[in-house]
Amino acid sequence: TQTVYTFGGAADHSDPRQRDKTVTGGKGANLAEMAEIGLPVPPGFTITTEECVRYLQEGAAFSDKLHADVATALAHIEQAVGKSFGDAGDPLLVSVRSGARVSMPGMMDTVLNLGLNDETVQGLAKTSGDDRFAWDSYRRFIQMYSDVVLGLDHGAFEEALEIAKEDRGYFTDTELSADDLRELVSEYKSIAESELGQPFPQDVNEQLWGAIRAVFDSWDSDRAKVYRRLNSIPGDWGTAVNVQAMVFGNMGETSATGVAFTRDPSTGERAYYGEWLVNAQGEDVVAGIRTPQYLTKARREAAGAELPSMEEAMPAAYAELARVFDLLEAHYRDMQDIEFTVQQGKLWMLQTRSGKRTAKAALKMAVDMVGEGLISEEEAILRVDPMALDQLLHPTLDPDAPRDELGKGLPASPGAASGKIVLDADTAELWSNREEDVILVRVETSPEDIHGMHAARGILTARGGMTSHAAVVARGMGRPCVSGASAVSINMTDRTLQIGSRSLKEGDVITLDGATGQIMGGRVPTIEPELAGDFGVLMEWADRHRRMGVRTNAETPEDCRTARGFGAEGIGLCRTEHMFFDAARISAVRAMILAENEEGRRAALARLLPEQRSDFVEIFHTMAGLPCTIRLLDPPLHEFLPTRDEEFEELSETLGLGVDHLKRRAGELHEFNPMLGHRGCRLGITFPEIYEMQARAIFEAACEVTAEGGDPVVPEVMIPLVATRKELEILRALVDRVAAEVFAEKGASVDYLVGTMIELPRAALMAGEIAKEAKFFSFGTNDLTQTALGVSRDDAGRFLGPYVDKGIYERDPFVSLDVDGVGQLVEIAAERGRATRPEIKLGICGEHGGDPESIMFCEKVGLDYVSASPYRVPIARLAAAQAAL
Ligand code: ADP
Ligand code: MG
Ligand code: MG
Repeated sequence: TQTVYTFGGAADHSDPRQRDKTVTGGKGANLAEMAEIGLPVPPGFTITTEECVRYLQEGAAFSDKLHADVATALAHIEQAVGKSFGDAGDPLLVSVRSGARVSMPGMMDTVLNLGLNDETVQGLAKTSGDDRFAWDSYRRFIQMYSDVVLGLDHGAFEEALEIAKEDRGYFTDTELSADDLRELVSEYKSIAESELGQPFPQDVNEQLWGAIRAVFDSWDSDRAKVYRRLNSIPGDWGTAVNVQAMVFGNMGETSATGVAFTRDPSTGERAYYGEWLVNAQGEDVVAGIRTPQYLTKARREAAGAELPSMEEAMPAAYAELARVFDLLEAHYRDMQDIEFTVQQGKLWMLQTRSGKRTAKAALKMAVDMVGEGLISEEEAILRVDPMALDQLLHPTLDPDAPRDELGKGLPASPGAASGKIVLDADTAELWSNREEDVILVRVETSPEDIHGMHAARGILTARGGMTSHAAVVARGMGRPCVSGASAVSINMTDRTLQIGSRSLKEGDVITLDGATGQIMGGRVPTIEPELAGDFGVLMEWADRHRRMGVRTNAETPEDCRTARGFGAEGIGLCRTEHMFFDAARISAVRAMILAENEEGRRAALARLLPEQRSDFVEIFHTMAGLPCTIRLLDPPLHEFLPTRDEEFEELSETLGLGVDHLKRRAGELHEFNPMLGHRGCRLGITFPEIYEMQARAIFEAACEVTAEGGDPVVPEVMIPLVATRKELEILRALVDRVAAEVFAEKGASVDYLVGTMIELPRAALMAGEIAKEAKFFSFGTNDLTQTALGVSRDDAGRFLGPYVDKGIYERDPFVSLDVDGVGQLVEIAAERGRATRPEIKLGICGEHGGDPESIMFCEKVGLDYVSASPYRVPIARLAAAQAAL
């Protein structure tokens, strides 16, 4: 297999591996594809991700084959450009760029202008006829290479640049003359030499291999690992390396560089969108060093900006760019995110990829593109990341609420967020771990800030455009972001900040509106989201294409209403214990638990019966005939017990029993390992009166609602934590008996089912037997994961992070089902349950029921439905449709 693929010039792009992102990375695959469809791409080559993986496995060693293949590929570039690498007279310069399978913003830095040294810089000056340009390029190269490849601190270089400007009374970099820059270069070289202990590398091949090595190594850098963990990217993919002939956006007023989207990535609107800078190179736009200009005239006018748009300043190059936009959209049939450079009037394409977008934009584009005939309904369903819907389901700022506007920045990532100001990423993480809402405020963000951005509700930066690091990462994470708010100035010494005329300090509360760029003092009230429009359309398509049902986990009428609003088709899990915590009831619950004997327990239960019945009446009314699975009491009893002295005293008064006595009874209930203790159906076996009361409440409520003329209710009574058929046999008989009693008393009856949770490995294995007693199984994958892995969910926090980092588990098994292990138990149980009872209803009610990857698995196993928490219902609907396609 090939280790290197060439692109551009006369390269042959016919090997399908070259356009496979898993082999050449996203950047490399798309560069080849653009070259293939005839777009102007500077020639170059891509070293495969496989070589990166091999290099990392083999202790950071390059193979001989790679050395040879790179030499051949370099000759391809030299031939296509007509220049030679390292040629003192007319040097070829290249960029060295990383490119993994999926884009990892800012994770691995690009080196530009590689191939410059004390000799080739002269050649570049001569052939370009522009001394200033040549020395500026060399200066940039030394700084970038020192930072990215040699790991030197860039602060010293920046300082030298600042001093050079100050000494000469300049304000901007562009005022530096060729001679100034030549002096600066020699200063840069001595900075590098003093830090390195050896001269800055002059050998161009050494430069090239150093950069290739740096790209490979960066795959395993800490910040790359953090990003991968947050985004569930496997650690064994590796990154490709792209080496590409340089084109120069810094050759004067007819040259430029920019980034653009074929549609608006914030709103999804069908309008070109982007930023550019005249006489600038690559990273200048993204780094937020100069404030970029608008691409289109319409945008510039809307923003009231002074500097001309590209459409106005370079109409020919802009027209060519617009043509390329349309070609790319038609070719990829998706919104593209593009990087380009104009060298002396000629447009060059440097990158294209499917653009990141907000959830709102993703929806709009998917629906619009179906309308435009660009994609099919099925493709539209597959285009939208179910998890991204989460952003749309949450409240936005109330447009009618008063706003104390402090200032304004760019609307970099939509959504509203309020929280306390924090000035660095570590503080953001610390405070957010204390359950505080925080807004991370930085001059600009860098990859080192990612954990803080993740911890924050929103992000505010003083510098940087719509495509700055902060903006791109925030959009990806779904965090509201306001960037480039130049009115913000931060004082890190006394941890204060100024926004316009107002002084604030760390800890003060502000609100961001990422859709308008507004920054407001204090907390602004929010309103519920709009679920019609594009959202409704896409959901309708999803419902048409999915096979599995989607239910919700809910126990309050309010949750039921929310879930129904989101399209839930029933309740998959109603946890009855939540109903016991109510302040008005807890004393009866405690009296029941602390009772000395059955008689005492029955007296207390009699007080709970009407309460529990009215809960079910309300729920059945709300669910209006949809199926409702109700789980009988599950947690160990001691969870309901008082802990504080006042509580004991209060209870002592109500029950007329001494505090000491109560404390002793409570002590008796203590368990060493309650998760595996006296809970679930074990309670029903030992205290049948508890389950009797609950069953009675369910049936009485069902009869009542039906008698009132409500839609007929079919309760599904679910017995938790069953391990043996016998347990279920006993408890099913109990439920049947109570049902018969209630129906006889009422002279009416309702249909009902009795079933069980499958949440113990033994139950999964014995599912064939258990199914003889069960009309349905619901996989309780939270407990099933705990018991199959032998990992307590409540204690996993201490070690699961490192486990995921080391790739022991690919993802947190409590978030995304461990398909390989726990998944087998689900499969076995489904198969054996069906063998006994072909029509058995199968569902999942663990946290995993709202996780798209786990939903994919549920489809594969052929479950009948998934059940998710109310806000996850739309996510589950979309994920179920994707799984079915
Ligand atoms: P990232 O993945 O961080 O976007 P890139 O490899 O795309 O990094 O490089 C960043 C920028 O560097 C590009 O947008 C482009 O402007 C510039 N660049 C990269 N390669 C070249 C090149 N061969 N000629 C000119 N500019 C380049
Ligand atoms: Mg790029
Ligand atoms: Mg459970």
